[in-house]
Formats: sequence, C-alpha cells, structure tokens
Amino acid sequence: MKRAVFIERDAILNEVRTGPKQQITPITLEEFKVVKAAAESLKKLKAVGFVLIATTNQPGLSRGYQSRRELDRMHDLLRRTFPLDDIMLCPHDEADHCPCRKPRPGLLIEAGFKWHLNLDHSYVISDKWQDAEAARTAGCTSLLIKSPWIGEVHRDFVLTDLNAVVDKILRLKQQLECA
Ligand SMILES: [Zn+2]
Repeated sequence: MKRAVFIERDAILNEVRTGPKQQITPITLEEFKVVKAAAESLKKLKAVGFVLIATTNQPGLSRGYQSRRELDRMHDLLRRTFPLDDIMLCPHDEADHCPCRKPRPGLLIEAGFKWHLNLDHSYVISDKWQDAEAARTAGCTSLLIKSPWIGEVHRDFVLTDLNAVVDKILRLKQQLECA
C-alpha cells in the first residue's frame, strides 16, 4: 500500500489574509498567490515515494460566493506549481453536516480508498487544528506549523516551518523502515 502526505491548501500552498478569527481564503485567481518556496519541500516528499494530496474546505461553493470555474483555475495553477497527485475538496457548508468537511476525516478516508493508502503511515501537514483532528480520526500522523490557529486538539508534532515538517516526515519514514 502507498503512503500519502496530505497538505492543507490555505497558508501552506497559497497565501491567505489574516482575519480576526480565521484565515481569509482567496476566491479569485487574481487574489490567489502560490507559495513558490513550498515546491522544493514537496519535491523532496515526492522523491521518496509519497502520494501528495492537497485538501481544502471550500464552503463558498455551497454558500455561493466561490465560483467553481474560478476555483478550477486556482487549482490548475496549484497543479502546475507543485508535484500534486490530487486535490480533494469539501464543497459543503457547516449546516450540510457532510462527512468530508474538516475537522471530519472524510477527505482523508476517501483518498485512502481512491489511492490505496495506508493511512496509519500517512501524514497531514497544516497550520490549523481542524486538520490535526481529521488526522487523528483517520489514523494519520499530524504535523502542524505554528500559527494562531492550531488550537488545543491532539496533534503529533508542532514545528516552526514547512522545512522542519518535511525533515521530520523524512526521519519518521526512515525510522519506520528500519523498525
Ligand atoms: Zn463536505
């Protein structure tokens, strides 16, 4: 079975604005700025065989302020910039009570079936607690980058930046293989 690294899209792969209580997600291609520096980190993970999957909650699709066409254009740009195998999104609003809106683990579990993943040996990278919670429920290891949004839920590691996170994943993978 394959292993994956799941990467929260906002603030890891593209820039966001900081609101009073949460990040503000870009909704047009014009506002959408990719974090080019992340490409080297993702290439390192790709080189050792991980399936790379970006995940994102996009409630604007059901609330009506995010156009699907514009989102597709943003995600085309992500695929051109990073060696991603897949981009998985939840289009629902909180009120829909779907299984895929993070902190629920539906996107990770669906990806597990689609890509034949061993979720116990897969990793989740984010700067927000919702991803750590989804990781815990799905059985993945979570690595959070320090931010105002990491909350108090269980997470496996908190690190300073994406480079530190990728180094940690590479070490953990090596330990697993030696065990
Ligand atoms: Zn959903």
